[in-house]
Amino acid sequence: MESSIVNDAAPAALNRLLTGLGSRSISVLDLTSPLSAATPTLELPTPFANLIDFSLEEVSAYNEPGPFWKHHNIHTGEHIGTHLDAPVHWVTGREGKDVSRIAPDRLVGPALVLDVSGEVEADSDFLLDIHHIRAWEAEYGPLPRGGWLLIRTGWESRSDSRERFLNNDEQGMPHSPGLTAECARWIAGESGLSGIGVETVGIDAGMAAGQHPPFPAHHFLLGNDKYGITSLRNLGELPPVGAAIIVAPLPIVGGTGSPARVFALVDAS
Ligand code: MN
Repeated sequence: MESSIVNDAAPAALNRLLTGLGSRSISVLDLTSPLSAATPTLELPTPFANLIDFSLEEVSAYNEPGPFWKHHNIHTGEHIGTHLDAPVHWVTGREGKDVSRIAPDRLVGPALVLDVSGEVEADSDFLLDIHHIRAWEAEYGPLPRGGWLLIRTGWESRSDSRERFLNNDEQGMPHSPGLTAECARWIAGESGLSGIGVETVGIDAGMAAGQHPPFPAHHFLLGNDKYGITSLRNLGELPPVGAAIIVAPLPIVGGTGSPARVFALVDAS
């Protein structure tokens, strides 16, 4: 008989999940971008200092420094590739949590997918506003407490090109979608969401330095113990409601963020 991951002694609710995973009626999707030296990363304009890109440094590879093993040092900024922004990343959240102190139950919850890829196709500087969320809620119900709002923009289709992903104009100004300040303030102050997830390089729009306040998603969310995840993929595989998300950043002590693995659980039918 085929071995099963289902444990008859498991509590009923968890047993249903394990049965679904075992029978493949629940699928596990990877929402994470592969992490390599080629991963597109945020480029701040001068005079601001940038993080380093991700890279691997070989220490041994089944050779003299380590004849039976291969291992690397990794070099990376915190905010590289698919990653989580913790409250202490932003000046408004400086008294808040570092990435190691975020409660795990805030990192697992309902995934709500709002698709604005048509709007973004027409306007790279598209800003999600409260009325888009209200329209989504009219169709699918109120955003649940502990949920993660995942903003589907189609930006993933640019991820094989750093140039198209960052989308800088001739003056070096990036053009990519984000949130209005009012929407960011509403999510932070009025919604019960744990955070938002985006397909772009950061949770704010490319032009967000010119918004009031500057970088409103960072300003309001991180200042209100809400979190952000970036550079997500495969949001097109998720239903608007009904999926679960698991966000797994490294517990870097004092860290302002971390590359994260992000999974979704979805009904396969
Ligand atoms: Mn970040």
